[in-house]
Amino acid sequence: MLSAKEFVPAVYNGFVDAIGNTPLIRLKAASERTGCDIYGKAEFLNPGGSVKDRAAKYLIEGLERDGKIQPSGTVVEGTAGNTGIGLTYVANAKGYRSVIVIPRTQTQEKKDTLRQAGATLIEVDAKPYSHPNNYIKLSGRLAECIPNACWANQFDNVDNRRAHYETTAPEIIKQLPNVSAFSCAIGTGGTLAGCAMYFREHHPNVKIGHTDPCGAKLHRWYKDGELKAEGNSITEGIGQGRVTANLEGFTPDYTYEIDDEAALQACFELLQHEGLALGMSSGINVAGAERMAKEMGPGHTLVTILCDSSSRYQGKMFNREFLKSNGLPEPTWIDPELPAEI
Ligand code: PMP
Repeated sequence: MLSAKEFVPAVYNGFVDAIGNTPLIRLKAASERTGCDIYGKAEFLNPGGSVKDRAAKYLIEGLERDGKIQPSGTVVEGTAGNTGIGLTYVANAKGYRSVIVIPRTQTQEKKDTLRQAGATLIEVDAKPYSHPNNYIKLSGRLAECIPNACWANQFDNVDNRRAHYETTAPEIIKQLPNVSAFSCAIGTGGTLAGCAMYFREHHPNVKIGHTDPCGAKLHRWYKDGELKAEGNSITEGIGQGRVTANLEGFTPDYTYEIDDEAALQACFELLQHEGLALGMSSGINVAGAERMAKEMGPGHTLVTILCDSSSRYQGKMFNREFLKSNGLPEPTWIDPELPAEI
């Protein structure tokens, strides 16, 4: 393995070329507590700031391959934000436009980022997938109404998981040939199913773990075949209620449900003691990898995904009123009371 000092960073030919090839970062506390080596793949270091840059590149290049997007055409997508951000940056770099449909409930930070990048942003009420005006279904219909537009369809377009099959998992093997397990949460399922497909085909000894937030249905689905859930979560970008096309044929070796309190505590610990400022899906992933490491026993090497940065969720993750009203731990180190005599 090359040390950080010997490593020469790549020289890229533009934004799209700079997607992927992210480093792995050893997570100290989680590793020490379990006697394993737990690494996070630093997807927040992608040029658009999240793991979804990889999918965005593959989705747009798939539309180009299939002749579905024309020069100066428009890509339309329904997204919790990160895919929209990635798609908009890739679209800007390739001369396309983007129209993004997002549930109103998602953070202001992601919506601002999208508007600033030039996306036409359509905020809609959050509705379940069964509702005709669910943001995903709405984005599909919208793509049919806009001239010269096409739908990226990240949930059911398997170019999404191909991004992880062809890039994320092979990178992990090159970085850590002795990896024994990989786990992460599911939004579309592209990351987990794409990596799992690669590992199972080429490195079948790598165990696959799934970590769900409360209120998502897939934990029970993979555990005992029932598509059911209880509870809810403030996490964004993850938590799926159906088996998307990207998840077809996929089953994990381990599955865990991680509550918001554990996810937030993982994020706060990573920030305060390891300097890693991560969004809550990363907290779910790290807490889940720790559970899996405990179950597998000491001596294993696990990899999970550090999906994006906490800067995309500041108004929620560090908002004491919001957290208190959701019964969640507060970042007590922010705005501490000064001693009276100062
Ligand atoms: N974390 C965050 C913050 C995300 O935005 C997403 C994608 N929606 C995921 C995790 C899950 O990734 P995937 O869609 O590949 O399952």
